[in-house]
Amino acid sequence: MRELKKDRTWLLTHPEAILEPADLAQYKEKITRRQQHEPIQYILGEQEFYGLTLQVTPAVLIPRPETEHLVEAALERLPRETPLRIADIGTGSGAIAIALAYTLPQARITALDISTAALEVAAANARTHNVANRIDFRESDLLHAAQGEIYDAIVSNPPYVSTNEELEKQVRDYEPASALYAGETGLDIYRRLIPQAKAALRPGGWLLMEIGHGQSEALAGLLHDWASTEFINDLQGIPRVAIARKAWPPKLPSK
Ligand code: GLN
Repeated sequence: MRELKKDRTWLLTHPEAILEPADLAQYKEKITRRQQHEPIQYILGEQEFYGLTLQVTPAVLIPRPETEHLVEAALERLPRETPLRIADIGTGSGAIAIALAYTLPQARITALDISTAALEVAAANARTHNVANRIDFRESDLLHAAQGEIYDAIVSNPPYVSTNEELEKQVRDYEPASALYAGETGLDIYRRLIPQAKAALRPGGWLLMEIGHGQSEALAGLLHDWASTEFINDLQGIPRVAIARKAWPPKLPSK
């Protein structure tokens, strides 16, 4: 328990310890919050992602293990020793941007979010993991605040849940709706994001997006005019990451 500044081992090896009334009250308060379905990550204030402990508040979506597949897929495609320019659209807690900055020591990342409250959490996380000097946080609707900039890769875990979908109570009642829902089909954000990403990528640049259950066919349609598209499954076998590569301009015939 964090208030006691004692870890699990201490608790297990000191069964005789008696809780102070104030500590007991705090403990009970947290149990009550959990009984009301508040996510444990908001109660404790943190979540691990890609081996990094991140601060989370109700201003940000709690990073999910599925999103680690996106980070892995990006790392498999991006060279480590090149000074890459990467944009993370809808950075939230900063999970993807920070994991990439941490693993790609030469990369510079523009991390965008429409929520200033989320950006504050993300910036604090970047400082904790010593990557704040390579991540530029900006308040932005998708790529709006990055107009005219060109990237080697664009990554995003955008909102993709249909407004008709019944989410679990602990998600629906506690996590930010603006990070979850994307219209009736769940595709509204992809429809705006994909053309913007195409304009902002260099030829041969990569777009990697997390997608929802059952969305891979729709995404394949939205990405049909890219040079290549592929999908990566999560551990449940559900296509979870859409990857597309921007085409190179056709070679002009030489005279
Ligand atoms: N995977 C999340 C959920 O199902 C949704 C995340 C998102 O919309 N990007 O709760």
